Amino acid sequence: MPLWAWIILAFVAGLAVAGLAWPRVRALLDTTPPPDLPEELAPGWYACCSRCGRTRTLASVGGVRLGANRSAAKATLGWCRGCRGLRFIRIVHQDRLAVRGKAAAGR
Ligand SMILES: [Zn+2]
Repeated sequence: MPLWAWIILAFVAGLAVAGLAWPRVRALLDTTPPPDLPEELAPGWYACCSRCGRTRTLASVGGVRLGANRSAAKATLGWCRGCRGLRFIRIVHQDRLAVRGKAAAGR
């Protein structure tokens, strides 16, 4: 068998294994609680799902953010329990949340 055939075979086998494992990974993600860290480790920071807008305090989802630039835009890839999927999770400070809230109220 030529090398390209082995590469395609490995790719297809990988997809099959991932497909078989995915329901179990999903169940594990749904049942594993996030590490509930004390609020002092990420004071005023929130994790906000970019798809469904579910917002939690960053510490309650296991985030640590100390002395970071409050106006910087930051996002991470994470599992959203609101819409049950791998999403971009925006990490925003309450200062910016308040500004966004005001802007929405003004409209
Ligand atoms: Zn979501």
